[in-house]
Amino acid sequence: GEREITNINSLADEALALAYHGLRTEDSTFQASLDKHLDAGLPAWSVVKSDLSRVLLNLCTNALYAVRERQQKAAATGSAYEPTVTVATHHVQDKVEIRVRDNGTGMTEDVRQQIFQPFFTTKPNGEGTGLGLSLSHDIVTKGHGGTLTVESYLGEGTEFIIIIPA
Ligand code: ADP
Ligand code: MG
Repeated sequence: GEREITNINSLADEALALAYHGLRTEDSTFQASLDKHLDAGLPAWSVVKSDLSRVLLNLCTNALYAVRERQQKAAATGSAYEPTVTVATHHVQDKVEIRVRDNGTGMTEDVRQQIFQPFFTTKPNGEGTGLGLSLSHDIVTKGHGGTLTVESYLGEGTEFIIIIPA
């Protein structure tokens, strides 16, 4: 695809809303808090808009899935839990940083090491293709010369960090 001058804040906002809408279409009882920390000083950025949209949608969908999973466990044990997904943007020198954070299930070290491999999924039959993160990694690294990294703590949550240079 071609690069276009893009408002990344809008892209992030839309991806989170779309992912939430998608999950609520399957499960209308599901509710989560959607938080946004969007850098108002972020200038328009040259990206392949449809590709970056897809990455953000993948990350937000995964994040919402993880909070829903944790919520189902919390409901089963009667413990209090507030599912929350946060998207954040920061303009740092000649880079833009986009973070997608959730307070969902988190992942084990073993899972974390495999998530960027094509077809790796922990989701049950047909619920996941295991292609979202491998594709996202290629789009960010090969397509934009950036990085896609992750931090995750089992039982606490996960944060994906995209960095795209100018
Ligand atoms: P899929 O969503 O189809 O399983 P992905 O490539 O998007 O494929 O993700 C691969 C795997 O990475 C998931 O099955 C899950 O185990 C793990 N994963 C991704 N995002 C998260 C997250 N936010 N929290 C916990 N686990 C995650
Ligand atoms: Mg996925």
